[in-house]
Amino acid sequence: MAKLRILKDTDPTLRKKSRAVDTITKRTLTLLDDMVETMRKANGVGLAGPQVGVLRKIVVIEVVEGEVLELINPEIIERSGSQTGYEGCLSLPGRTGIVTRPDYVKVKALDRNGEEKIYEGTGLLARCFCHELDHLDGTLYPDVADRMLSDEEYEEYMESDD
Ligand code: ZN
Repeated sequence: MAKLRILKDTDPTLRKKSRAVDTITKRTLTLLDDMVETMRKANGVGLAGPQVGVLRKIVVIEVVEGEVLELINPEIIERSGSQTGYEGCLSLPGRTGIVTRPDYVKVKALDRNGEEKIYEGTGLLARCFCHELDHLDGTLYPDVADRMLSDEEYEEYMESDD
């Protein structure tokens, strides 16, 4: 496994739309492994293809330690409710915003064996699904945030270690 470089800030790749994975190859599986390692080393809970320079519909998520979700060609098929809370991104270090997202999301995706799976998420997992799938459309959370925290608010937020 290898740690990949995470693209940051104004990198134009982060703004591009990802294409579907047509065939799951050995390279796809290596990419998934490397993305999981990269996400963990960066202490993230999710990582999307474009963030490591790969414009393919691939997402990894680990909201609960040890429970890695690998999503190929993910699609939100149901959403309901609403939650408002803090959100950050490995590609936008040093910033946090307040974002309103659905409180329940149902996602359809292929797993690494090419089998279709349905995932349901509430709370943080629902937020994470929305955030990571937005990356595949070139959308970053400040685009959809209610507002971004000021520098002062950000410092307080970081000190609260929440
Ligand atoms: Zn992100």
